[in-house]
Amino acid sequence: METPEITLWLILCAFTRLSINGQRAEAYVPENIPIGAILGKESRQVETAVRYKIKQFNGKKGSDYLGFKVEASLHSDVNVDNPNEFIGSMCDQMNKGIFAFIGSSHLPAAASAFDFAEKFHMPYFTTSRGGVTSLRKHFYSLHMLPDHLDAIIDVMLHYKWTDYIYYIFDDEDGFGRLSYIYKRLEELGQQIPIAGAKLNDTNNAYAELRMLDNLPQRFANKKIILDMSSHSVLKKVLEQISIVGMNKHGYHYILGTLAIEELNLTQFRHGGVNITGFSLLNYTYYELDKFIEDWAKPPPEGTGMKTIELTSALFVDSISVITKSLNTMMINKKDVFSNIFRDGALYNNGTRGIKCFSRYQPTPWIHGPGIIEAIKTPRVAGLSGEIVFDAYGKRINYSMDVLEVSLDSGPIKIGDWSKENGFLTNKLGEGLEDKKPNVTATRTIQIITTVLAAPYVMMRKPEPGQILTGVDRYEGYCVELAKLLSEVVPFNYTIKIVEDGQYGTLDSNGRWDGMVGELTRQTADMAIAPLTIKSMRERVVDFSKPFMRTGISVMIKKPEKQKPGVFSFMDPLDREIWMSITFAFVGVSIVMFLVSRISPYEWNIVKNNGDGMKLKNAFTLKNSMWFSFGALMQQGTDDCPSSVSGRLVGSAWWFFTLIIISSYTANLAAFLTIESMVPPVNSAEELANQVDIKYGTMEKGSTYDFFKSSKMETYKKMFKFMSSQDPKDVFVRDNEEGVKKVQNSKGKYAYLVESTTNEYHNQRKPCDTMKVGANLDSKGYGVATYQGHPLRDAVNLAILKMHEDGTLTKLKQKWWYDKGECGSSSDSKTNELTLSNVAGIFYILIGGLALAMLVSLCEFLYNSRQDSIMYKKSFKDTARTQARLSISGRCGMGGKDRSSFDNSSAYGVPYAYTAPNGMITFRGYDEKTDTEV
Ligand code: ASP
Repeated sequence: METPEITLWLILCAFTRLSINGQRAEAYVPENIPIGAILGKESRQVETAVRYKIKQFNGKKGSDYLGFKVEASLHSDVNVDNPNEFIGSMCDQMNKGIFAFIGSSHLPAAASAFDFAEKFHMPYFTTSRGGVTSLRKHFYSLHMLPDHLDAIIDVMLHYKWTDYIYYIFDDEDGFGRLSYIYKRLEELGQQIPIAGAKLNDTNNAYAELRMLDNLPQRFANKKIILDMSSHSVLKKVLEQISIVGMNKHGYHYILGTLAIEELNLTQFRHGGVNITGFSLLNYTYYELDKFIEDWAKPPPEGTGMKTIELTSALFVDSISVITKSLNTMMINKKDVFSNIFRDGALYNNGTRGIKCFSRYQPTPWIHGPGIIEAIKTPRVAGLSGEIVFDAYGKRINYSMDVLEVSLDSGPIKIGDWSKENGFLTNKLGEGLEDKKPNVTATRTIQIITTVLAAPYVMMRKPEPGQILTGVDRYEGYCVELAKLLSEVVPFNYTIKIVEDGQYGTLDSNGRWDGMVGELTRQTADMAIAPLTIKSMRERVVDFSKPFMRTGISVMIKKPEKQKPGVFSFMDPLDREIWMSITFAFVGVSIVMFLVSRISPYEWNIVKNNGDGMKLKNAFTLKNSMWFSFGALMQQGTDDCPSSVSGRLVGSAWWFFTLIIISSYTANLAAFLTIESMVPPVNSAEELANQVDIKYGTMEKGSTYDFFKSSKMETYKKMFKFMSSQDPKDVFVRDNEEGVKKVQNSKGKYAYLVESTTNEYHNQRKPCDTMKVGANLDSKGYGVATYQGHPLRDAVNLAILKMHEDGTLTKLKQKWWYDKGECGSSSDSKTNELTLSNVAGIFYILIGGLALAMLVSLCEFLYNSRQDSIMYKKSFKDTARTQARLSISGRCGMGGKDRSSFDNSSAYGVPYAYTAPNGMITFRGYDEKTDTEV
């Protein structure tokens, strides 16, 4: 009657001694730990999960683990429904040597397996239902699947099932379970008649089901608890129920399964039937979420699967528990496994393997008691929640989601169940959609819905060995705000992440999704999240005064910093100013020249050799330019104007240069040292006027709505552009995706996001995003409650109070700036000048010197040429004489050397001097007076 199962074994391999660093260096660490596994045939995913988990564990580096590996070998030829075959296979594995094994079996094989494990002290992890009462208590069996009977009883009481109820089961254990329900109801002071019905053949239960359907109304009250021995049997029975037609209005089933999400309930969604069931796997749970992230990656890294079945998750958790416990044992007692391996084989009390054949005296596994004790001690954070066992290997401290399928909807979560709190419903009124019930009642524990968005709400990273539960699993601005509100108002609360990850948008059918939807359906009491206050939303929920102000802004990738160039000393003044200065310089020089010519006071009488006196003007055009240039360079020249007009020109020019040079100097340092960034766009308008950079928003939310409904031309144009693109290229699911898109698009994507989020991400590593331009609008985030919530006014007052006393400012400072990783943009370091910053002025200096050399050579040649003509000597001789004079004569300005200037000297070349006005003066030397004449 049961689907045969395949047994897969993971075999013992060689063990070697590893040396480990540090404190644990002395511990004996086997290289491979062999584990046996018995997998059910019904789920092919289990084998993948086991292999994946072992590969993941064996590849772990730098963790708290001592470095051992787990070895797997899988077999699939065992009929696990047959006790003899099942036990035979267990025995085979034990003969080879295993530390523990994992498997699932159903009655009667399960009972035999538990007994067998007990006899040989073999830790046995089972993923099948353990039975509440009928099975004897075992110490070596570990039931990974928690029991759901208490949850069924609580939900049944929640629905106020007081009259005849049908309890349908399929194995012997069912009788024991039914009597447990009676006992428990009695303890709770409830007297509810429940009729039990055992299905004899679950493959063909049509007749029994029809009989049930045809029962007189008194019995056919249609409240049915379906508690089958396994998930696969439940699937089969549900199929038959729908064929018989028992999926119609009036029926309400509570399903004894912890994986309702794995059932195909489409046949039940439209007939008006109600179904309630449970789910152990909660995808908002940190460990599961983290595991799925890698598991969903494409092979070979992951498996490419988006979800994991419950049985697979329980196998994965079993491996986590085994590895963690063995690791703890080796840390606590360094040589615990040092004497059980020889030649790569496991020895148990001196014999190879763990012998269980009859011809041997049964020898229990010597480390069995130690391992089982280690397993029952620590808490392990598994995929199915926190894993803690009681003394009999039953799980405690677990919780599950309660889900419901009703007309045209579901399964949707309607609450949580845990042993401590019982059934905690999310739902106050009936009806799923935006009904506005007149509710004044309030839950004792407020359900706060929120969204995972940094830094508002984030998953907290547990410390090594720490297990986080409840609200401790989250951290962030809104998590702290919720805590503060709960203290001020006050109220008790729990936090749940919004199921669909959305904020709240009205769809074409008039349904709200996201947090707003949860509030309108009252599956949550409050939304504390970056939820924008909008008129549309205000119509269906109540908002408090804003706790944070924000506005739509543009996020772009930070442009590369540009190093100052070699000619960056030109940058302090713009090109137009440089041009104007050049023109001014030329203009002033000309005016100076003209003024000096016109003004008689600039003419001086100079003694002309032999011809008497001559008028001389110092301000030739060349000298005028030299004068202006000297002033511009803040230097002086020999010639100074003596006329009033000339002095006026000079004063005006000096004043001009004073201001210009001061302004230039003030800016110079900044331009030489600061590495500038030139963003490609500076505002939303610039973004709208180009097509090279794509831009977009979150696909649903107030930012998208803003562009969609804007009446302003620029924003209308932007929305048109966004809508014309492939949605994948511009719209993103959440802010994290938007920021990643900006970072990975090499400056070709800009994200339109609320400024608070923009600012936060700009402060996170790798610090490569920035906000440009002013905000496009101004709005705020508010705490939303469903309409008529009794705490609405108190929450509003608390928010105002927190604004007034600075609590909210402090909170923002903490989550935005104190935790910032990029430093403030204003504290740009003053860099020291490097050669490359000022290389340009060296080039100019070198160029100037080279030009001067060249010009002096030209002057020399020109002068030699003139002299050779004048004295009718060859150019060569004249040049040589000039050269000698240059080296010895003209340089040696002392008295006696001047003898070489004598007209009658050997060289016969007088010292010729050309005055600035073009007049040539010949000079000689009077030896008697030792003066130039
Ligand atoms: N805070 C927004 C909202 O409430 C989300 C967004 O568009 O950025 O919808």
